[in-house]
Amino acid sequence: MNLPTSTRPDPRTTPLPRLAGKVALITGAAQGIGAATARLFAQHGAKIVLNVLEDNTLAQRTLAAIGEEDALLYQADVTDVAAVQRMLDIAVARFGKLDILVNNAGINVFNDPLKLSDDEWTRCFEVDLKGAWNCSRAVLPIMLQQGAGSIVNIASVHGHKIIPGCFPYPVAKHGLIGLTRALGIQYAAQGIRVNSISPGLILTPIAEAGFAAAADPVAERHRQTEILPTKRIGEPEEVAYTALFLASDEARFINATDILIDGGRSQVYHD
Ligand code: NAP
Repeated sequence: MNLPTSTRPDPRTTPLPRLAGKVALITGAAQGIGAATARLFAQHGAKIVLNVLEDNTLAQRTLAAIGEEDALLYQADVTDVAAVQRMLDIAVARFGKLDILVNNAGINVFNDPLKLSDDEWTRCFEVDLKGAWNCSRAVLPIMLQQGAGSIVNIASVHGHKIIPGCFPYPVAKHGLIGLTRALGIQYAAQGIRVNSISPGLILTPIAEAGFAAAADPVAERHRQTEILPTKRIGEPEEVAYTALFLASDEARFINATDILIDGGRSQVYHD
């Protein structure tokens, strides 16, 4: 729509919504980074498909924060290919298109390699890597038909650096960064961008659970804070803002790459 100059919002005084007219699917959106991303995207004008594993109080709270008019809540396990496809069909029926996919759903599987069961290995890869592929495979035909789309994968600093005893999570996250590059290159000429974000420690329920599992949760939280150059833990909104940039047209020449958000921690060689 071409507004007459006098009625156009003045970009110097009125910030334009950065995702106006876009539709975004965010997986694992009930809490943590996914919920923060969903709220921020909605504030910037996107319609949101909130994928949740369970339709619980947290999921309903995220839906209420956005409003039912602008969001569709859909319960699906990202490891279930048929459920993911049903979610996409319903999303497109409701909003008419799909511009952005944020593959955020993830689980921590941290073990000593030789103590790891086959079930743990399978579950980690099914959720953290195959889940992202299941959702990407379902949205790619829609994006290809539109000739445009942006996929943002939430990887991890574990996809760059190794912490002993966290196996096989870093293997899956390295794979997710590989998936980002492979799909980003494969579909670049058709208008689709695929990028990833690698957060360091971010204060979400998954991180809180990690502290709680330590022998001394308060001391563990203090230790993990002190090893960060910033001397503070990251916040979900700080990841969400990077996802917003990558998902938006502002990042239209950024493809097949990864952005670390870890306060610089991964650049430290020795403490
Ligand atoms: P979180 O608070 O545990 O949120 C993850 C969400 O994913 C939860 O709502 C969870 O649902 C959902 N989920 C898990 N398995 C799923 C499945 N099979 N299908 C659909 N949804 C599923 O974790 P977070 O910290 O926000 O993490 C989000 C992403 O960031 C993950 O990929 C994680 O690996 C990555 N990350 C986090 C950190 C950090 O420090 N927090 C650092 C690096 C990377 P339920 O709650 O119902 O299980």
